[in-house]
Amino acid sequence: MAASGPHRIGFLGGTFDPIHVGHLVAAVNVRYELALDVVLLVVANEPWQKVETRPVTPARDRLALVETAVEGFDGIEACSIEIDRGGVSYTADTVADLERIYPGAELSLVIGADVALQLGTWERIEEVRPKVSLVVVNRPGSAAVMPGEDGPLAGWKAEAVEIPALEISSTDLRDRAATGRPLDFLIPEPAIRLLRERSLYGGGR
Ligand code: ATP
Ligand code: MG
Repeated sequence: MAASGPHRIGFLGGTFDPIHVGHLVAAVNVRYELALDVVLLVVANEPWQKVETRPVTPARDRLALVETAVEGFDGIEACSIEIDRGGVSYTADTVADLERIYPGAELSLVIGADVALQLGTWERIEEVRPKVSLVVVNRPGSAAVMPGEDGPLAGWKAEAVEIPALEISSTDLRDRAATGRPLDFLIPEPAIRLLRERSLYGGGR
């Protein structure tokens, strides 16, 4: 996008397997608190930390669920750059792509507290650190992570944004789908319809 495009951009990367309201509540609240033009939900192509531990739903299906979930909602967008790039998804490459697509934009990398605690395991993290501001949102089940000199966020430009604590995870939703328990109100309704149409996550209703 040209210089007239969005200037303050947040991006929340994830497997979104599947998307749920925990992701969406985080995105809308960070967008509001930081007055961002847009928050991109960046769908991982191959989440390298997950593919070895469990089967991951095809990227195109996960993307379609995110697109359907945010359709018509202003300021939150599905983003396919990691899928378009193909291969294993590294945030360092995503940041480089975003810099190319949105030259001069300020990039805010939004992560949940569980991910903040794992930052040290990321590939080529030193390429990411100088290029983004971190925004850490609280997540039930994960210790609080505060910006500071001697925590996991040392060396990062970082801030915490408090969001409504929603104990919702894709792991639980996959289990719910597989065992036929309700997904209602945990995933936007049009996305539930799509995942059923595509027979994703096993189980019936
Ligand atoms: P899984 O259980 O498969 O790991 P997940 O629910 O953690 O799925 P991810 O796609 O792994 O979803 O998460 C993407 C990003 O969204 C991460 O930064 C994660 O911390 C954040 N996130 C996910 N769910 C919540 C939630 N309920 N509250 C706050 N942040 C969340
Ligand atoms: Mg997760």
